[in-house]
Amino acid sequence: MNNLESFSAPKITVIGTGYLGATHAICMAIMGFDVLGFDVDHHKIDQLRAGKVPFYEPGLPEKLREALASGRLKFTTNLDDVAEFGDVHFICVGTPQAPNSSAANLSYVESAFSGLAARIRRKALLVGKSTVPIGTAERLTAMVADISPLGAELELAWNPEFLREGFAVQDTLHPDRLVFGVTSPWAEEMLRRAFKPLLDDGTPLIVADLATAELVKVAANSFLATKISFINAMAEVCEATSADVSLLAAALSLDDRIGGRFLKPGLGFGGGCLPKDIRAFKHRAEELGVGQAVSFLGEVDSINNRRRVRTVDLVRELAGGSLAGVKIAALGAAFKPNSDDVRDAPALDVARMLYLEGATVSVYDPEANANAHRLYPDLNYVGSLAAAVEQADVVALLTEWEEFRAADPDDLGALVHHRRIVDGRHALDPERYTSRGWEYRALGRPYQPSTVAHRSPVAHRGPVAHQRQPL
Ligand code: NAD
Repeated sequence: MNNLESFSAPKITVIGTGYLGATHAICMAIMGFDVLGFDVDHHKIDQLRAGKVPFYEPGLPEKLREALASGRLKFTTNLDDVAEFGDVHFICVGTPQAPNSSAANLSYVESAFSGLAARIRRKALLVGKSTVPIGTAERLTAMVADISPLGAELELAWNPEFLREGFAVQDTLHPDRLVFGVTSPWAEEMLRRAFKPLLDDGTPLIVADLATAELVKVAANSFLATKISFINAMAEVCEATSADVSLLAAALSLDDRIGGRFLKPGLGFGGGCLPKDIRAFKHRAEELGVGQAVSFLGEVDSINNRRRVRTVDLVRELAGGSLAGVKIAALGAAFKPNSDDVRDAPALDVARMLYLEGATVSVYDPEANANAHRLYPDLNYVGSLAAAVEQADVVALLTEWEEFRAADPDDLGALVHHRRIVDGRHALDPERYTSRGWEYRALGRPYQPSTVAHRSPVAHRGPVAHQRQPL
């Protein structure tokens, strides 16, 4: 992919080298472009320069080393260098939820665009990749024209990103589509050049206006969140009856109009994108006077959050009615497997709620312990699956890492105090557990007792009257 001599390849910069930006910068260099990555976080830049990816992403460290060795990838903390270097500048900074509102916090995006606009002295394209509310690009266009010595010559485009953490390298080098939001043929041409290797590979391209490009991303995330919450709403209905949501999901999946992807019941979605994106979308739609059109996203969010509370209920029920003094093994902290991202992570939220009800919680995540510890230092983090389940009264599987799926119920059973498991992700074969003497609970499924004739009786602990203060 890296023979770009035959056309005038633009020089690329990437502003913000977090999960999205670092991956984008590294993969653009792998594709053959000269790339300069920039972040305000000096520590992150030092790590990247030293060949260390500051977060867990399978396959990315190898690509970083390859890109650095090629000489095509460099990093800086000097924005003047960035302005000087780039023909196409990709802005990949964070757009987290605002502290006291469901709107997106756009201050990082504004600061990145204004910083570049003030410094760039030659024709170049600023490309937003961050997920933003509709209308942001248009507003930034006016801001940039105002600040830039080049005026409206400094153009702006939007190129939403669809990569999935855990599959970021594959998704960046082989995306299922590209979307360009542009306002001029020149901007489209620059983006075509910047993505030439992918377009030559046959990646489908949608060229759109700025607002549509912004909307594609939040609409896609809203659809996925809705599908997850739909099956989780069905799980709630199942819980009020004797129906089994996993059988229901299996039956629905076979309808090819519906399909099985994102129809998996469980603890629901989290992470640095879906939750904040649907909230910001709803907020923006209300500002635009079309709040009613997406008011269902509020319910999607509520269903999702109720799954966390219900998971705590299942653990409490298995523990005999109270969590005070109960020892819980919390398996997983990341919002999904193959990531160390704990932003709005359902697993960590459940672990924290269990702790607040007085349980002793041992958290083990193969990659996310350090990030989780930074967020909730009061929980007890352990370095192995065995250490987490040691003497546990209830095991709660909260993130479906392969290590947890593959664990042997007898090996785990030898370590725990009681063979009781809550499968928060529908990741295990219940029969495999109940036939080894485990009581098994999963959201939206009937209680499954151990099928082994004699096991030590369930020891219900009496309630201890204390609740912890919120972390
Ligand atoms: P992140 O928090 O991992 O990274 C953001 C980076 O931007 C940080 O390293 C931060 O130091 C840096 N930054 C902040 N202000 C800056 C500035 N003024 N100049 C330069 N750098 C600055 O966030 P992320 O997960 O990479 O997400 C970034 C954006 O991409 C968000 O809008 C997100 O919604 C979107 N997105 C993320 C993913 C994903 O899988 N993480 C996928 C698609 C879209």
